[in-house]
Amino acid sequence: MLSDAAHVPGGFAEGVAFPRNESEVASLVVSAARVLPIGAQSSLTGGATPRGEVVLGTRALSAIGSPSSGRVRVGAGVALAELQRTLGASNLYYPPVPTFDGAFVGGTIATNAAGPATFKYGSTRRWVEAITIVLASGAVLDLTRNETVASPEGWFEIEHTTGQVVRVPVPQYAMPDVPKLSAGYFARPGMDLVDLFVGSEGTLGIVTGATLKVIPRPRRCLALMLCDGDDQAIAVASALREETFSAWKGLGLLDVAAIEYMDQHALRAVPDEAFSRAHVARPPGQSVMLLVQIEVGPDEEAALARLHSVLESAGVDDPYLAASGDERGAERLFSLREAVPSSVNAIVAAAQAAYPQVEKTAGDMVVPFPRLADSIELYRAAFESRGLDYAIWGHVSDGNLHPNLVPRTFDDVQRGREVILEIARGVVGMGGAPLAEHGVGRSALKQQLLRELYGEDGIDQMRAVKRALDPEWKLAPGVLFSSGQ
Ligand SMILES: Cc1cc2nc3c(=O)[nH]c(=O)nc-3n(C[C@H](O)[C@H](O)[C@H](O)COP(=O)(O)OP(=O)(O)OC[C@H]3O[C@@H](n4cnc5c(N)ncnc54)[C@H](O)[C@@H]3O)c2cc1C
Repeated sequence: MLSDAAHVPGGFAEGVAFPRNESEVASLVVSAARVLPIGAQSSLTGGATPRGEVVLGTRALSAIGSPSSGRVRVGAGVALAELQRTLGASNLYYPPVPTFDGAFVGGTIATNAAGPATFKYGSTRRWVEAITIVLASGAVLDLTRNETVASPEGWFEIEHTTGQVVRVPVPQYAMPDVPKLSAGYFARPGMDLVDLFVGSEGTLGIVTGATLKVIPRPRRCLALMLCDGDDQAIAVASALREETFSAWKGLGLLDVAAIEYMDQHALRAVPDEAFSRAHVARPPGQSVMLLVQIEVGPDEEAALARLHSVLESAGVDDPYLAASGDERGAERLFSLREAVPSSVNAIVAAAQAAYPQVEKTAGDMVVPFPRLADSIELYRAAFESRGLDYAIWGHVSDGNLHPNLVPRTFDDVQRGREVILEIARGVVGMGGAPLAEHGVGRSALKQQLLRELYGEDGIDQMRAVKRALDPEWKLAPGVLFSSGQ
């Protein structure tokens, strides 16, 4: 309760409550001086670590309605794994799941979570059809997409419980054109009010429930392949993306939803047991791996034949395959991918035991896909020029990778922070963003990256939005930015 998955020490709280409905949420918000909403606390940014607030746990907001017409009404405290289980009974599926499916619906909306399959399905934002929000004033907003859009002059009007109407300005900064972004407030001329709350990390209101779009459950197979280095991996990812764009136009057979990348350093961090469990041989030397999720129709064989011919043209050997329906095979391959962050995190924890100030120091970078090769080169050079150990993995089909420091000492961490800042600047220069999916939270480094992206003026524009909706700075204070006072 006093810490999230970023494991920043020193969390403390005024109290904790688990309201069961929106009126209990509203009463709590009205009576407390400062409130931090939390979901599953899987945040990697310290955003769900309390600093003296009343912690508003959402787990009792756990209702799941009956899906109908491709929509389902869900409480903020429902874990995505639970939602998928319920939807599975009707052969339905909610696509924009992060790698950690224990995250709650409210938390994923608050961070605009994304994940491996963003390539095909986009981030959480696209799937939120309606949302219920409790504001800092205790007012409850029921918002449905396309019903409330910003005025041509660039503001929303919102009525508080007192009857007072406030104008909320739409920030003027230009967001980078990338497939996923969790970098403060969404801003676009004529934007929908729903979008202001998606990705606002609990600072503008508390999500109590949402109506989400769902789809028929896709049939999926998995292929894990070995590439002899980055050039070959990028060539394969590129070819698979092109094949998929053709398939989406009805001109091809290979419909890829996600391509995950694990570099040689990341694979080296994974223990032998994890390879044995996955029934995969440890790759030699400088090899990197790609894990590809392919959605298949009735003609799975034809899709796999197409995959083989793409791989053959790229000079890549036959992959490890889990055909559709082979759930155990798929679990095994996924377990190898999951072993990458957990193995690196275990190394961080071991260094922390010796040097308590050590913390996870990692990037969440996204670049337009054509700049992927440049970005990987940039990440490697920044670590290597400082003699630092590192590992890189992530959602390569979106150009979204997580360059991670593998620290030995606190000195490594300090230099690792310089790396993250340096590569963030490079990524912004490539038209990308250093805050792709995990959000900003209370991490001083990530708040600095937000300033790199939008400048002080952009942060001031976000503060103006916050001030209009939460003048007492009651909700999630210190998340995204300081009050600036
Ligand atoms: C192993 C691992 C893998 C991960 N992989 C991914 C990934 O692939 N993609 C990705 O996007 N993220 C990933 N994450 C990060 C994390 O899972 C996401 O940020 C997730 O969306 C957080 O959900 P949560 O319920 O745990 O929210 P929390 O961590 O509890 O909260 C996150 C933020 O949202 C706010 N918040 C929570 N609930 C509400 C609410 N109801 N109303 C308003 N604000 C609220 C909190 O105040 C906090 O600022 C990963 C994390 C781990 C540990």
